[in-house]
Amino acid sequence: MEKTKKTILVVDDTETNIDIMLELLSDKYDIVVALDGRSAFDALEDNEVDLILLDIMMPEIDGYDVCREVKSNENRENTPVIFITALDDEESIEKAYAVGGDDYVTKPFKPLELLARIDTQLKLKELISHLNYISSYDEMTGIYNRRKFFELGEKRFEKSKNELYAVMIDIDKFKNINDTYGHPTGDKVIKAVADTVSRHISDDAIFGRIGGEEFAVLCSCESPKNVSDNIENIRAAVEALEVASDAGEAIRFTISEGVAKQNSTTKSLDELLRFADIALYEAKGLGRNRVIFR
Ligand code: GH3
Ligand code: MG
Ligand code: MG
Repeated sequence: MEKTKKTILVVDDTETNIDIMLELLSDKYDIVVALDGRSAFDALEDNEVDLILLDIMMPEIDGYDVCREVKSNENRENTPVIFITALDDEESIEKAYAVGGDDYVTKPFKPLELLARIDTQLKLKELISHLNYISSYDEMTGIYNRRKFFELGEKRFEKSKNELYAVMIDIDKFKNINDTYGHPTGDKVIKAVADTVSRHISDDAIFGRIGGEEFAVLCSCESPKNVSDNIENIRAAVEALEVASDAGEAIRFTISEGVAKQNSTTKSLDELLRFADIALYEAKGLGRNRVIFR
């Protein structure tokens, strides 16, 4: 079930402060509490926290360090942190923003103002998540778009030691499908291909729509035989698909795939993909509906 209330983590080493927060926030939010920095990290591991209210002066790990840690974790960097503290000198405030804090409220605080600030930060967070989503995913298929594919692909390429495969996938004679059955049916075919490929690749593969009816996969694999079987299975699975046209006709279609493996001379992700692309065009030239390894 989707949760309706947002979760706020309140971090403060003074229990009476926590009690005040619980009193103020419990109706509207789910509250998780931590009395020190270390328990704050544990609470973040155990809960899906939407916002953190953070005291600064705490023993051992202070609020600044907690904030730094939160903001340096790529899964949490967009979690808003509002400092709530008795410190009201300019230097403390400046430091709070310097370590990544999103807002700063001094004690004693005005309850309605704090509620409004929390609400604002939560709205901003939703907006950022939405922007991140639409800048990373292809709306039609739900897989990575070209930009995100290359962003993640570059990172993977840098880390991998010659065990990366690039697969270029292109729907055969796709223009004919559009021309014969119309664009909306063409869209259904694109989506069906994306769904089929998604089902056949491992969770750590990077799969994106890099053009209209073109897709690319980057995957690492222990054994080349495994990779070739997998890629051939994708081709066969697409060949077996049927999509209904708007008029109710069952449409069949095929894909071609070009595969290249990274080796010690592969200079860049672009080069690896170019080799896969050359293999793809060979597959097209040889009659389509086939896989070519380079
Ligand atoms: P080949 O077998 O050589 O790949 O031939 P093809 O017809 O598939 O290739 P071509 O590149 O000539 O045509 C691709 C077509 O895909 C042209 C374009 O209008 C269509 N297309 C691109 N994006 C979309 C889309 O989002 N939806 C639909 N329905 N069609 C699209
Ligand atoms: Mg095509
Ligand atoms: Mg094409």
